[in-house]
Amino acid sequence: QRPAGIDVVSEALADLYRRCRDLDQGEVADYIPQLALADPDCFGLALVSMDGHRYQAGDSRTGFTLQSVTKPFVLALALAELGTDPVGRRVGCEPSGEAFNAISLDPVTGRPANPMINAGAIAVTALVPAADPGERFARILDCLGRFAGRRLEVDEAVYRSEAETGDRNRALAYLMRGTGALAGDPAEAVDTYFRQCSVRATVEDLAVMAATLGNGGVNPVTGEAVVPEPVAVQVLAVMATCGMYDAAGEWMLRVGLPAKSGVSGGLVAVAPARFGVAVHSPRLDRVGNPVRGVAVLRELSERFGLHLMHNP
Ligand code: GLN
Repeated sequence: QRPAGIDVVSEALADLYRRCRDLDQGEVADYIPQLALADPDCFGLALVSMDGHRYQAGDSRTGFTLQSVTKPFVLALALAELGTDPVGRRVGCEPSGEAFNAISLDPVTGRPANPMINAGAIAVTALVPAADPGERFARILDCLGRFAGRRLEVDEAVYRSEAETGDRNRALAYLMRGTGALAGDPAEAVDTYFRQCSVRATVEDLAVMAATLGNGGVNPVTGEAVVPEPVAVQVLAVMATCGMYDAAGEWMLRVGLPAKSGVSGGLVAVAPARFGVAVHSPRLDRVGNPVRGVAVLRELSERFGLHLMHNP
C-alpha cells in the first residue's frame, strides 16, 4: 500500500516536466569548452522526501558535472571539520549582488563575499583539512558521495577542459593569497576546486544530496549522519541568501527556498524538513541560472505554498 501523497508528488513532477519542457530560452555555458557539448534539451527532475521516498520525471538518470552545486556541500564539510569562526575568517556570508566569477574581495578584510561564488568556494575548498592535495580531494569526493548515498566520480574530460581555461579562477586564487583569504598554495587550491566542479552525478543523486541538508544532515536514503544538524542549518542559510548569485533576492521573493545552481544546468532546492528537489537543464539565463530549473521551482513553490515565509 503506497501512501496517497506519492501519486500527488509523481503527478506534480510529471506535470511540471510537461509544462516546462518547451521553454527554450537561454544558452548552454561554453566558457568551459566541454560544457558546450551538453544536450540543450536534456531535462530531468527528482525529489526525495525526508522519509527517503524518491520521485523523478524526464532525463533523471543523465550524468552531468555538478559545478557550483558542489559549493554548499563542500562548505558543509569545512564547517563540520573546522567550525563557524575559522571558516568565517576566510570567507564572508553576505550576498554579493555580483556575478559568480566576480573579482571582488572585501577592501578591508580581503575576504570573498560568500562561499557560493567562485572566490569564496575556492577559499573554502582550500580549508578542508588534509595532509596533501590528493587527500584533500579524496575527502571532498568522499563527502559528496555520502551526501548522495553512493560513490561519485570525476569527469576527467570536463576537469581537463576547466583546468585549461580556468585562468580567471586562478587569478582569484592568487589575489586571495595576497589578501590572506586563501590558505595554502593557489595553484593547488584551484586544481582541487576544478576537480570538485567536475564531479559527475545525476539529478536523482542531487535530490538525495539536497534532502540530506533538509533532513538536518542525515541522508534520508542511507540513514548516515553526513554532517551535524547545526552545520546543515548554516549551509541552508547561506544557500537562501547567496545560492542564486546576483538573482538571490529575486529568487527569495518568488521561490523562497534555499537553493544552489551551477553552470552545467544543475539546480538544487530544499524545503527544510520536507524534501530536497533537483532539476537539470543546461540552458542558462543571463546570470547563469538554469531557465527551466528556475521555472520549475517557481511553479512548485507557488502550487504547494512552499515559500519559507508562508504561514501554512
Ligand atoms: N567550474 C565553474 C567555474 O568555476 C563553476 C561555476 C558555476 O557553476 N557557476 O567557473
